[in-house]
Amino acid sequence: MSDLMRKAGELDAADPLGGLRDRFVLDDVVYLDGNSLGALPANVPAAVDDVVRRQWGELRIRSWEESGWWTAPERIGDRIAPLVGAAAGQIVVGDSTSVNVFKALVAAVRMAGEGRDEILVDATTFPTDGYIAESAARLTGRTLRPVTPAEVPAALGERTAAVLLNHVDYRTGRLHDLPALTAAVHAAGAYAVWDLCHSAGALPVGLDEHGVDLAVGCTYKYLNGGPGSPAYLYVRRDLQARFDSPLPGWNSHAEPFGMRGAYEPASGAPRGRVGTPDILSMLALEAALEVWDGVSIEAVRAKSLALTDFFEECVRAYAPPGRVESVTPAAHAERGSQVALRCDDAGDVMKRLIEREVVGDFRAPDVLRFGFTPLYIGFADVERAARVLAEVLGEALP
Ligand SMILES: *Cc1c(COP(=O)(O)O)cnc(C)c1O
Repeated sequence: MSDLMRKAGELDAADPLGGLRDRFVLDDVVYLDGNSLGALPANVPAAVDDVVRRQWGELRIRSWEESGWWTAPERIGDRIAPLVGAAAGQIVVGDSTSVNVFKALVAAVRMAGEGRDEILVDATTFPTDGYIAESAARLTGRTLRPVTPAEVPAALGERTAAVLLNHVDYRTGRLHDLPALTAAVHAAGAYAVWDLCHSAGALPVGLDEHGVDLAVGCTYKYLNGGPGSPAYLYVRRDLQARFDSPLPGWNSHAEPFGMRGAYEPASGAPRGRVGTPDILSMLALEAALEVWDGVSIEAVRAKSLALTDFFEECVRAYAPPGRVESVTPAAHAERGSQVALRCDDAGDVMKRLIEREVVGDFRAPDVLRFGFTPLYIGFADVERAARVLAEVLGEALP
């Protein structure tokens, strides 16, 4: 047994979150793609079966009231809230992240008022955020200015209406400084919209503590809600009365069943709703969130950093020298819960890794991405993944 295998065993034995793996349906595959699609929580199949057979099949329309379908978007929002450092009543679940980026960004621009004609967007962002921001700018008659997060402080000014930023870069795994950037945006009199897709469920976000204005995120990555599970929208409580939705569907009306001709927005988080919620996905997500019972996000963060540190250590020890280069920052303060390695033949390498039951993903043109989900990944998994990666890298020299 190698020293690193022994070390993995010791780290697993001392891991306070080690037992949580049993809350998931997993096999012998080393699953390092939970930053793309979280694994299935073991309680979800039975919960979904109940929703389909009993709530829908037997109670039918009565379930909107009796099974709590109607209030699910706010109720599940309150369940996500502690994971992102938000008090209750500020998060609503529904629609995709893309749609929520649109709602949040347009609403932020409307809050900023006519005098501010520029939107700053993270130029390194996940493509959908950039596409949506471009359309939001066109619709609101603002100019879109792509900047890197490091350039944001210098780019801010009297013209800035809103800034759309990613908490963790999906490609490199770089964690951006949410407290400092939010403070800078506020100092310029603008509104900060954060995309939490790659941070929620992996590290503390502190939305309330840091005074974030609006935030969005998906639930199928570190929150394990299942493929296409609905996203969420956070609007800080004192801004809710000024949240002017660009998609004011009947579900966000003050009196949805009044069927009135004139729109009057609901107060609070429900103002962020649009149309009928996707109940099957939403209630699968609600069940999936039960895996967080008794789990502190601080403990998750501590383990996440230990896992990514250990992966880097094992890759350094095992991989042929110079064969891969990490593009993930070494500093803990700048690292999310993934490690991204660059090599010219990354696509081919990932295909071979998956054949050998180490599942990460490939991001064009040359990045190998490995996501570490502290709820179900252990240190022995990390050592094995690095060992198999080194084998593949040694065999397939480009
Ligand atoms: C995963 C991800 C999305 C996904 O958007 P959907 O509308 O849910 O498909 C958006 N933004 C970022 C930064 C992401 O990582």
